[in-house]
Amino acid sequence: MRALKISLFALLGTTVLQFLVVLISGSVALLADTVHNFSDALTAVPLWVAFLLARRPATRRYTYGLGKAEDLSGLFIIAVVALSAIVAGWQSVDRLFHPQPLENLWWVAAAGVIGFAGNEAVAVYRIRVGRKIGSAALVADGIHARTDGFTSLAVVVGAIGVMLGFPLADPIVGLLISIAIFVLLWGTVRSLGRRLLDGVEPDLVDRAEHALSHTPGVLGVERLQLRWIGHRLHGSALVRVDPMSTAAEADELRAAGAHRLGHALPNVEEITIAVTARAHH
Ligand SMILES: [Zn+2]
Repeated sequence: MRALKISLFALLGTTVLQFLVVLISGSVALLADTVHNFSDALTAVPLWVAFLLARRPATRRYTYGLGKAEDLSGLFIIAVVALSAIVAGWQSVDRLFHPQPLENLWWVAAAGVIGFAGNEAVAVYRIRVGRKIGSAALVADGIHARTDGFTSLAVVVGAIGVMLGFPLADPIVGLLISIAIFVLLWGTVRSLGRRLLDGVEPDLVDRAEHALSHTPGVLGVERLQLRWIGHRLHGSALVRVDPMSTAAEADELRAAGAHRLGHALPNVEEITIAVTARAHH
């Protein structure tokens, strides 16, 4: 939550400074970078709401809790970022065909540097916290912010191009930034689509299978299913045991298996382990 708040205010501050320079310069490259930084800052809001919802205890209607709100907020984020890229791209194309003189070019270059610094600060912070709390999503957000920092530097390149007597450098950089946003967005669409279809990283399944099959008393893993609900892992497993084992032994084995899964996988909420005496394959 603190990582979200700090990112939100750092990016909003960057956006306000950049927008002031858009107004005094008329640079579309800077406009593209600014609307993108603004939409990135806004992404903290639905995530914030989702985290608050996910903290609520399960009810008789939502027996798994509201962890999936995190994935739904991802859909909203994709829509906002896509809209920002369309607006920026359309403005840039319009300026390519209707060129307008730019003013205060040194300010444009300075605003590009501010965008780089703001994004890089957010990137360093997110990656550090993400590694500390084991959140792959936060680390990925950090890498996103670092990429955005380099798109802000492109604004500086565009401003220098205009100063050197190539006025189309500004809308061309604006268009390139819009395209870069779509490329970044495609990665988000893919990972979110996977989550909505209950996809997990195959490596997690390998680790869970290894942990279960090495639990004393387990003769084989017959079935194993995992899925993310928000950033918590749920699932079920069916393991084969000796037909002569007692109910008490089966209980003990399930407890040992659950303990091993907790060590082998990150953020396990609950993985139900059932036992069977016969092979299902
Ligand atoms: Zn971004």
